[in-house]
This record gives sequence, C-alpha cells and structure tokens, in this order.
Amino acid sequence: MKKLDNIKKIDREFSNTLVDWYNQERRILPWRETEDPYHILVSEIMLQQTQVNTVIPYYLRFLDELPTLESLAKATDEQLHRLWEGLGYYSRVFRLRQFAVEVQEKYNGRIPNEKSQLISLPGIGPYTCGAILSFAFHVKEPAIDGNVKRVLARLTNDTRDISKVATQRSMEDLVRSLLPEDPYAFNQGLIELGATYCRPRQPRCQECPVRTFCEGYANGHVEDLPNKPKKKKQKEVSLPIFVFHQNQEMLFVKRASEGLLASLWGFPMIEENFVENIESETEVFLQHQVIQDYFIEQFGIRLQPISVQRVGPIKHVFSHVIWNMHLFLIEDPNVWNRVDTVESPETIKSTDQDISLPTAFKKCVEFIYERELI
Ligand code: SF4
Repeated sequence: MKKLDNIKKIDREFSNTLVDWYNQERRILPWRETEDPYHILVSEIMLQQTQVNTVIPYYLRFLDELPTLESLAKATDEQLHRLWEGLGYYSRVFRLRQFAVEVQEKYNGRIPNEKSQLISLPGIGPYTCGAILSFAFHVKEPAIDGNVKRVLARLTNDTRDISKVATQRSMEDLVRSLLPEDPYAFNQGLIELGATYCRPRQPRCQECPVRTFCEGYANGHVEDLPNKPKKKKQKEVSLPIFVFHQNQEMLFVKRASEGLLASLWGFPMIEENFVENIESETEVFLQHQVIQDYFIEQFGIRLQPISVQRVGPIKHVFSHVIWNMHLFLIEDPNVWNRVDTVESPETIKSTDQDISLPTAFKKCVEFIYERELI
C-alpha cells in the first residue's frame, strides 16, 4: 500500500473533521432522533450482538408496547419473550427489566446522569454507560465498544492486543483528549465510521473521510488491525431432549432462572454431555442412572414410555457452545398426566403456538412438524 507523506496526527483537527462528516452524512436511525435515556438504552442493549437493520423494527415495537421505564419495570416474562423473540441472548432483556426496577426503586424512575450511579445498575458496562451519558445527557464521556476499538487501532496503527486492559485504557485516554465539549457527534461519528467505512472486512479506505489522519492506512497495516486474540473454539456437546407428546400437543418446561436460556420455555432435557452413552440402544440409554434420577427429580416418577422415537441430532450454535440435540419423542401417559398434579417444575402442554420458544427449541419443533413425527 502506498504510504501517505502528509499523514496528520490524530488531534483536534481530526476531531473536527469527524464531527463535520458525521453531522453531514450520518444515517437517520430512530434512536438518533431522541434524547430519552430509556429509549437510547433500549437501542444500545438491542444493538449488542445484533445488526442495525434487524434492530429497527424490534426497537419500534418494543417502545410502542413499553414506552416508559415504568411500563418496562412492570412487564411480564411472556411479554418480554414475545418482544425479544428472534433477537437472541434473552438475558439482555431480563437485565433491562431489572435495570428499570432498580431505577424505579433507587432513583424515583429517573435514569441517573452520574457515572458512578449509572454504572452500578444491572446490565450497564463501560460502553453502555458512556453511550447513555454522552447521547442522552451530553456528558463528556468516551463510548468505546468493539467496533470503535477497531477504528482507533487502525487510525493510530496500534498493533497491541485490543483485549488487554492497558490497550483499552490508552484508547480511552486518547478519546478523552479528543472529545469536544459536546461529545455526542464525536462518539456517534466513531461508531458511524466503523459501520460505514472502517468495516471489519473490506474497509472502504479510498473513500474514507478521515483517511489523511489514518496511520494504519499510511503504514499498510489496515488488514492486520485490530490485533485481537483468536476466539476459542466452541465446546460441542451431545444432549438428550425429551419431547413428551399426546394428540399433537407437546410438553414444555420453564427453564431455570440462571444460565443459558434462563427463564425461557424449553423441552425437558439433561444438559450434560452424553457423547458416549447417547449412541447406545434407546432402551438402554433411557435406563441410564442420570436420566432416571432426572425424571424422579423433575416429575417425581420414573420414566415408563409406551413408545419412543429417536431423531436428530439437530445442531444449534451458541456463542460459546454447540448443542447437538438428540430428540426422544416419547408417549408416556404417566408423565403426561403427572405434570398436572405436581407443582414443580412449571410446565405447559401446547402445540407451540401459544408460547415463545428460543431458536434452539424452535428448530426442534420445526424438525418434528416438517416430518410429521407427532
Ligand atoms: S482509512 Fe481505512 S482504516 Fe483508516 S479509518 Fe478510514 S476506513 Fe479505517
């Protein structure tokens, strides 16, 4: 790559150039048309792990139904499942409600504009805190997420590991030194630059509005930046999923309130890797002590199926683990009737039309329906 001779330092001139460019070229997005901290928070939480275009209709629907922090604090699990269905990472929306409840209790329903108060609330990390403070309250605070780190590493030709605290601190210092009195357009500008020009792959350097400031470009290092450690390969596990069914209805249970897919509906299952045992004969497998203990603990009775059909595995990839779901379609009148009489766990018999299921279990249901297995 050709080296620029007239490379400028990242300084106030850069800051002005970025702000001017942002003000002229910014994309119109619904959360940029408001200064309501609650609305901005909802957008920021949705935008974690999810693309802008996907978020827009969810954001509008969410605020249409829950327009105030107070309404979110009172929202039911079912309502939140429905409004978040398809966005994934459901724990985000439950933390959001927890945030709303605490703001109601501690701050009389007003989101605080003090950093120390805001950052101590549920679901608020340094980036979200900076985003709320600078976008809603115009407080001079950096908002540095993974995309902004990429932009900064390239702009300054910073080859250090961006996951290291020391690298992050120096990026924060740099942004603090550049922030204008009103930080809004500068912080939004870095985010916008990362989304439109300084993209993870195939950055548009030739047309970039701040190319003359970019040391990574001048040094021909753009493709190698940022320097981030390779992600660990996800762990892969084989899990038995028990689909109890009768007259086309299936049995769903409420999952535990902690951990993966917390508090969502799912099938009874054992979240232990059965990679060796799962290959054994169905009858032998179902006699496994872990499975017997599971049914005693969950439903208070032993499994006594009158028919079992085994299908799959169906794969579902989470960010840190891959589930290979082996479905056991079971008719067992004892379990089926028993769940109406025991108190725990929370269960529902449904054709799946009436409940929101996370994608992993939706895949199982689609697999079953498509093949007319029940
Ligand atoms: S010149 Fe390229 S690497 Fe530098 S900020 Fe612009 S898009 Fe990013």
